[in-house]
This record gives sequence, structure tokens and C-alpha cells, in this order.
Amino acid sequence: MAEILIKDADHVLTMNDARQELAKVDILIRDGVIAELGQGLQTGGEVVPARGCVVTPGLVNTHHHLYQSLTRAVPGAQDALLFGWLQTLYPIWARFGPEEMRVSALTGLAELALSGCTLSSDHLYLYPNGSRLDDTIEAAQEIGLRFHPTRGAMSIGESAGGLPPDTLVEDEAAILDDCIRVIDAFHDPKEGSMCRVGVAPCSPFSVSRELMRDAALLAREKGVMLHTHLAENDEDITYSLSKFGCRPGQFAEELGWTGNDVWHAHCVKLNADEIDLMAKTRTGVAHCPCSNCRLGSGIAPIRNMRDAGVAVGLGVDGSASNDTGNMVLEARQAMLLQRVARGADAMSAREALEIATRGGARVLGRQDCGQLSPGKRADIAIWDCSGTEAAGSWDPAALLLAGPHRVRDLFVEGRQIVRGGFLTTVDLPVLIRKQNDLARGLAAA
Ligand SMILES: [Zn+2]
Repeated sequence: MAEILIKDADHVLTMNDARQELAKVDILIRDGVIAELGQGLQTGGEVVPARGCVVTPGLVNTHHHLYQSLTRAVPGAQDALLFGWLQTLYPIWARFGPEEMRVSALTGLAELALSGCTLSSDHLYLYPNGSRLDDTIEAAQEIGLRFHPTRGAMSIGESAGGLPPDTLVEDEAAILDDCIRVIDAFHDPKEGSMCRVGVAPCSPFSVSRELMRDAALLAREKGVMLHTHLAENDEDITYSLSKFGCRPGQFAEELGWTGNDVWHAHCVKLNADEIDLMAKTRTGVAHCPCSNCRLGSGIAPIRNMRDAGVAVGLGVDGSASNDTGNMVLEARQAMLLQRVARGADAMSAREALEIATRGGARVLGRQDCGQLSPGKRADIAIWDCSGTEAAGSWDPAALLLAGPHRVRDLFVEGRQIVRGGFLTTVDLPVLIRKQNDLARGLAAA
């Protein structure tokens, strides 16, 4: 029986049903699961001292495009709106292959882990030059993060009136076949699962209505979740109205894209009726505040969504539109952005952290994750508050107001992935060198 004892944490934000906060407490991990929280706990196993630290559930990232970590800060895409930004980047992404997919995923997941993330989804919607979803799953296994990869897709190229170049789109029957292949090969529905696959046509402006509908039917037949981009900005709404004659909410509802097995990225432009629809159908939302700022998309009505009971999680979004992938800074940005729109009492540091942990776990259908309670998976972040960022803080547990931006230690399923601020599973300097070599190669081509 493998045991680890996290000893004497100054402050534990449990995010349990009562949102309890505990002081001077120990956490006992047994076989990848939280066994007990309390004082004076004992173990014959390893002891991890946590005096001077705040302990939280691991952060949950509900929207990402890991491959984009190879196209950060690309000149020409730095200051563009969504559609122009995409058209600049598509030809570069068309040069990716399996090695670019694997290394960029390793890099993006490493960055997430160091910022406290234990569970990440990913949305991979282009497969040039023999790339496969398998490349990113391999990367997640190597890093040791819990992973929800989604098999994305684009099928309407430029010649058919879509946005992406024809070289980046796939045949719709082949897309559905590959969805079945990766679900059968990798999806694990069990409690404690380290890999759950989702089905994720890229967006209403890059696939047909038929593929959206067929993807929903397939996902339900297979018992997997559905994910896409929805109502990201004004261009997106205009496209929906002119092309489909309806708003995104109606589009989603008509094609089977509502329910607690669906989550939509962005939802910046949802109106009051659409927010009610998301709440009523228990459809999830992945809020991506940095990306929304970076692309000037707007401020998502997260306060209204939360008040209406919508399941909201947090996403860093791809590194071509963030361009960082730091989950704790993303949570801080979520808090700040609601305050810009609604005033200083619009969102507390603790609520933003709740969205980033328990909220994300709910969106991804992971009732076994996202909180520190006996019986839940041992996905745990330990934040050392002895550094400059928290020095002088009267309330270190208000981590997003004044706290570290990197974890000291991180556990996933009870396995230590970060120790003393360093990844235990990959050689980071070697990985970064590889990533930079690949980025230079793409730039030179
Ligand atoms: Zn996205």
C-alpha cells in the first residue's frame, strides 16, 4: 500500500462541498486517492513537509491547443483579430508532423504542471503530415498528467467557403472513423481514469452541420464527451447569423450540442437566453480570459453564467493566442476581467480558484477530481508562500491576489510530478532545446 503524508500545511483550500478551509493540517494519500485530512496523522511512507505552504486541489485546464506552443508570438499574428489570426497561422501549422505534435504537447503540459495543473484537456483539430492524436497522448503519459484529449476536425476548406486552407481539412467519413479508432484505443471511462477521449469538430465555421450532428450521435453512442468553440467573438456571431440564420445557442441546441456531456470554449457572446439554455441543459463552458483579451474578443459574462448555475471551468487556450499557458495566472486573469466588467466585488480570489479546480472538474465530468476530500483522487498542488510574491500577505490563501505563480510540489493520482519546483518526469532543458529547434525549423521553412 503506497502512502504519502503531506504534513503541517499552513492552509488547505479543500474546495469540498462546504468549501472548507483548514489550518495546520495533514493530508494522507493512499494508492493514488486522498485517504484522510486531519491533524497528527501518521504514515510508514514518505512524508512531504508543507509548513509555510498553501495546499489546493490541482488546477484543471478545460481548453487548450497544445500544438500551438510552437507558434508563440508569431509576427503577423501578434495583433490580429480571430479570423485574420487564423489565416496567418494555418499555413505554418500545415507544416507540422508527429514530432512537432509530440514535443509541443510535452512543452505545453510541462508548463501547465509547473503552474499547478494536474488535469488538462486538449483540442487537436488538424492532422498534417501523418500527425495523430496518439502523439499528444504519448506526451501526457510521459509527463504524467491526467489527460482529456479531444479528436478535433476541420472539413470545410477555402474552396468550399470555409476559413482553413484545403490542405488542412479532412474528409468527414475519415474523421468519424478516426474518432472511433482513438476512443477504442485510449478512452478509459473508469473512476481515476488518466485518459478520456472526446469528440471535437473545431468550430461551426470550419465543419459542416452534418459533421456536427454526426459527431454528437457518435459521442453518445460511445459514451464520450463533446467539445467545440462557440460564440467566441462578434465575427463568430455574424457568421452564424448569415450562414445558419440563427445564433450559436440555437445552432448548438438543434444539432445535439447541449447537455452535461458537452462543453463549449469561450462563449464570450452568449446572450441571456443562451446562458439560460446552458444552465438548463447543464452544458459546460470553458472560460479563456487571457485568449479573449489577447484576441480582443470581449469579456465573457461569467458572473451571469455562475449566477445562473452554468458549469464554468477555466482554459488557457492555445499558446498562439495567450501566449503563455500558466493556469494560476489564468485564474487571476479570470478574477480581474470580471472586475473590469462588473466592479471589484464581481469575483473573489477564492471563487476564481474554485472555477479553476472544482469548476473545471465538473465541466470535464470528473466528480472524482477537483477537491481535497477523502475518496477523491490525489491531485494536489502545494504552493510555497515564503517567496517574494506572498511576502507581507495577510491572507496567503488568497493565492490569486498575492501568491506564487509556480508550484513547489505537484501530485497526480498520488504520483509526484513536480518536486521542489522541478519536473520529475522529463528533462526540461533538453525538451526546451528540442522545442526551440523545431520552432526555428518552422520559421525557416
Ligand atoms: Zn481554442
